[in-house]
This record gives sequence, C-alpha cells and structure tokens, in this order.
Amino acid sequence: MPKTNGTFGFFENVNRSFDRAARFLTYPEGLLKQVRTCNSVYTVQFPIKTQHGYEVISGWRVQHSHHKAPCKGGIRYAPEVSEHEVKALAALMTYKCALVDVPFGGAKGGVQIDPNRYTPDELERITRRYTAELIKKNFIGPGIDVPAPDYGTSAREMAWIFDTYASFYPSQIDAAACVTGKPITQGGVQGRVEATGRGVYFGLREVCEQAEDMKRIGLKPGLADKTVIVQGLGNVGSHAAKFCQEGGCRIVGIAEYEGGIYNPRGLDVDAVLAHRRETHSILDFPGAENISHSSDTLEQECDILIPAALENQITEANASRIQARIVAEAANGPVTAQAEDILSARGVLIIPDVYLNAGGVTVSYFEWLKNLSHVQLGRMGKRFEQSAFDKILHTVERLTDTWLPEAERRAIVHGADEIDLVNSGLEETMITAYHQIYEEWKGDPRVPDLRTAAFISAVKKVAVSYMELGIFP
Ligand code: NAD
Repeated sequence: MPKTNGTFGFFENVNRSFDRAARFLTYPEGLLKQVRTCNSVYTVQFPIKTQHGYEVISGWRVQHSHHKAPCKGGIRYAPEVSEHEVKALAALMTYKCALVDVPFGGAKGGVQIDPNRYTPDELERITRRYTAELIKKNFIGPGIDVPAPDYGTSAREMAWIFDTYASFYPSQIDAAACVTGKPITQGGVQGRVEATGRGVYFGLREVCEQAEDMKRIGLKPGLADKTVIVQGLGNVGSHAAKFCQEGGCRIVGIAEYEGGIYNPRGLDVDAVLAHRRETHSILDFPGAENISHSSDTLEQECDILIPAALENQITEANASRIQARIVAEAANGPVTAQAEDILSARGVLIIPDVYLNAGGVTVSYFEWLKNLSHVQLGRMGKRFEQSAFDKILHTVERLTDTWLPEAERRAIVHGADEIDLVNSGLEETMITAYHQIYEEWKGDPRVPDLRTAAFISAVKKVAVSYMELGIFP
C-alpha cells in the first residue's frame, strides 16, 4: 500500500480522483487507461561543484499526456521532490489544462534541492545544467514541452532556462516560447507573476456567488466580509491574499514556515509582507497573536482556508479541527484523500486545486501566444479601439449636449493594454471553467463533489481529444 500522507500518496490521490470521475464515464477501458497513465518520465542526475563540495543533483521531467503538444507544467525546487510527486503534479497539469481549455498536455519538472542552501550563482549553474539535460533528451522546446515557475522557482530561473535554450538554438526564432513566467524584458507577459493568485480570487468569487451553495454551508453569498486564513505567503499565497483583501475579505490568519499570526480584526497583507522583509519573519506583527506551530494556524476560526504552500497539509490528523466552511486549494494537493472524506462528511466545501490554481497556466498560455506571435498583446488594436470609443463618446456628448470631465472621458475611451487583456482573459477563463464544472456537479445528483465534477469535465475533454486523433474509436 502506498503511504497516504507522503508524496507517494499524492499520485495515488490524483488517480483516486480520476477513478471516481471515471465511474461516471462510458469510454472504453483502454482509452481511460491511456488518459490516466504517465506517458514519459525522464530522470536525470548531474554533478555540480558548490560551496558544499561536489554534489550530484537529482532532477525529473514528467510528461503525463501527449494528447496535445506542447506539454506544459512548472519546475519545482524543493528537497522533498521525488518522482512520485512530479508524476502527481504532471497528471494534475493534464486535467488542469483541459479544464481551462488551454491546448497543452500536462507535464512537471522537479529538482531535488533546497534553494536556500545555494548562492544565486550556484542556482544559476544548477538551472542551466538541468536545462541542458532536458535539451539533450528533447524534453524542452516551444512545440515540445514548456516549463514555468512553481514552488521554489521564479522569473529568474525562467530567464536562465530561456537563455540556455536560446544559446543551444541561436537561429530558432520562437526560442522565447520554450518557457513561460519569464521577466517582461525577456518576453514575459504582464500579469503572469500574480496570475495564479488572481485566478484563485476569481474562482473563489465565482463559488461564493452561488447563493444556494453558500446557504448549504451556512455562509452568506458573496466574498465581501468573509474571513480568510492563508497558509504560505509565497507567490500564490501572497497574491491570493491581496486580491481577496481587495475584494472585501478580511485576512485574519497567515501561516508560514516560522509560525502563524492571527488577528480577528484583520491583517493588512502588504504590511505583513513588509514586516517579513524587514524582520525575516511574520511573527510579532503589530496587533496580531503569534501561533508558535505554523500548522495550528489552519485550525483557527475563519470562513475560508486557503492552503497555498505544499501538498498534504490537511490530513486525517487535523481535518476534524478545521473550522473553515470552504477550503480553497491554491496549492497542489494540500488535502489528502482521508482528510477530504472527513471534511466532506462535515459539509465543508472544497474547491479543488485542479481548477482553482489554473490561473498560472492560463496566463502562461497567453505568454506562449505572445512569444509565438512576436507582438505585445494589445499593440495592434489599442489606439484603434481608443479612437473608435472616442468617436462614439463624442457623438453621444454632441447629441445629448453633455460634456464629460477629461479624467472620466479618458477612463471610458481607454483602449486595452496587455495587462487589461491578460486579466480579462483570465477572468473569463476562470468563470467559464467553473460553470462547466458546476454543470457536471449539478447535472447529475450522483456526482458527490466539485473535485469529481472537475475531473469528469477534464477527462471528457482529454478523451475526446484522443478519439478525434483516431487513436481510439
Ligand atoms: P513559493 O515558493 O513562491 O511559496 C511557497 C510558500 O509556502 C513559501 O513562502 C514557503 O515558505 C511557504 N511554506 C512552505 N511550507 C510551509 C508550511 N508547512 N507552512 C506554511 N508555509 C509554508 O511557491 P508558489 O509558487 O507560491 O507555490 C505554492 C503552491 O502553489 C505549490 O503547491 C505550487 O505547486 C502551487 N502552484 C503554483 C503556481 C505558480 O504559478 N507559482 C501555479 C499553480 C500552482
């Protein structure tokens, strides 16, 4: 039996969700097996000289599904990374991409290091060598497999990956599309850094709009005034917290490595981030109570709990003490299968990772399109739109003899910039995907929860894609 709350159990958990969904589908057994299985697994070990001496670094790239090309998925740097974890994350990417209709197969990469143990120079050499290993085996490229940031990596690592790839293929005009999440100056797209957190906010807002569901779990409709606890103040957690705060939520608790803080009157996210930058800890934040065991923070009173750190954070050991009515999975795999059963039995609404954190890959898709088209989003149409709006507004003003103040008129005629288009595309994607999942959930009373509904929606799309390729009848 696989472990249930270790990383091995994570892949089993993803497959359990798949199997639950498959019960509602009537595709041939062989087709379902093909959708479920990991298509390619590449393991690599390479030597690097660091301040600690010569080290042999282990890395993986898993391509879960080749039903569409390229494959897509982040690269994680963490000491606990393992093949099983990367396989689980790659499988989630297949279903995630299908849910939000981005035309990629799922993949994931991992390098088994603690980035805090290395200097930036050492991290650069590890990243470049890992990239070279992927190039050698044809595991990276704009039409093959396109990595992105994940836990422990950021735009900096993506720039190194791009530069390494481009130096191997100097004449490849589309080289920038070999990786997403790059800095803007290296072909990145506006809004990618905050995309996953913003997507979490859009998803949560949509879920909370459903009055009937909110009534069932004892909450009022709408995000306004909901109390929220966030675990992990990294990229996803900090942005999700900020957007939820801007959307009217009260962030009452934050958990990080060093411990937790709680204030029922609310915590200002930017101020907590500034405090952490200054003191290297979230603890002792003015007005908040310190919680010495980080994990205890998750059990404090709130409406919504957003785990945004790593997998296996809510387990059978703490699930019965979670007070939140909604668990919003911003991280991948934060709730184990056993914990899910306990939470569901208590009527807690779980918004599954496979949907909720899909904002990152959605905006990565926009970045990939930008790189392939070699033109900034909005560049061709912005001024044209602006002048058309201006003419319409001018006509209305003339006909009604009402003249708007200059600031108001400028806000109305404003043509869409790259950031406007990215955010609007992300919002549209998260709303559309939620309603597709919702239809699967509400359309059949036997479908038990949102996760099963999300997997039904995703597996259908992947299966149809295989059928249309003519591989299965
Ligand atoms: P990150 O490295 O930027 O941040 C993670 C944060 O969690 C760090 O601040 C870390 O100190 C904290 N943390 C780790 N363990 C903790 C614990 N036990 N308790 C409290 N805090 C803890 O990583 P990220 O990119 O924000 O990714 C977080 C999660 O979101 C991962 O599961 C990742 O796979 C998922 N995700 C990320 C993206 C993305 O675009 N970055 C997209 C989709 C999903």
